[in-house]
Amino acid sequence: MTVTAQAIPMLSDNYAWLLTESVTGKTGIVDPAEAAPVIAALDRLGRKLDSIFLTHHHDDHVAGTAELVEKYHATVVGNGADAHRLPPLDVSVHEGSLVEFGAARLRVIETPGHTLGHISYYIADGGILLPGDTLFSLGCGRLFEGTPGQMFKSLAKYHDLPDETLVCAAHEYTAANAKFALSVDPENEALQARAEEVAALRQRNLPTLPVTLGEERATNPFIRAATEEEFARLRAAKDRF
Ligand code: ZN
Ligand code: FE
Repeated sequence: MTVTAQAIPMLSDNYAWLLTESVTGKTGIVDPAEAAPVIAALDRLGRKLDSIFLTHHHDDHVAGTAELVEKYHATVVGNGADAHRLPPLDVSVHEGSLVEFGAARLRVIETPGHTLGHISYYIADGGILLPGDTLFSLGCGRLFEGTPGQMFKSLAKYHDLPDETLVCAAHEYTAANAKFALSVDPENEALQARAEEVAALRQRNLPTLPVTLGEERATNPFIRAATEEEFARLRAAKDRF
């Protein structure tokens, strides 16, 4: 296992994920909404920034990029198809791209739904999934641009990843998501236990992430939805919740 991920809280409920690769000492950040918390974290570790990985163009995922590039000359990675609305990219990626990160590789998974150009990154060497705003603990992203069908298929692309995979999502939405999840799946004991754990963590102001994909498979109504129709119903119900 050479890559580890650490949550850097920013704005009101965002996490940028600081990636470190132990063989070469490379450091990366995923979705830097702000530069200052990233710089502070790197200073504490005594590291510089090598790579910036972007999942989608929304401000709360990219706004710190320019300052970090200016300070560290970090390489910016993002979806080439969305380059017109992302910060300037050094590496344009698409479905299946393998992005070099020290001794490790990030595999790109196109996951349209929240936005049409949204991508996720999977790091086999570390078992890390960076789903951006596609998958949250006990929830999934709002459909700003895509259809329920697109999002359903995007979430299905995670199905072949191992249960131990660490889900490093971009927002701390878990407590609110737990309320909705319990409203649609009240008898689910794994969900009840997770909701209690989440409440305890949030009471102490601790992150509820990362969470394993296996835990989400047992508790998250959106990835438990068996059909596109069921998923679409859930997503619409959550929007009204
Ligand atoms: Zn977003
Ligand atoms: Fe976001």
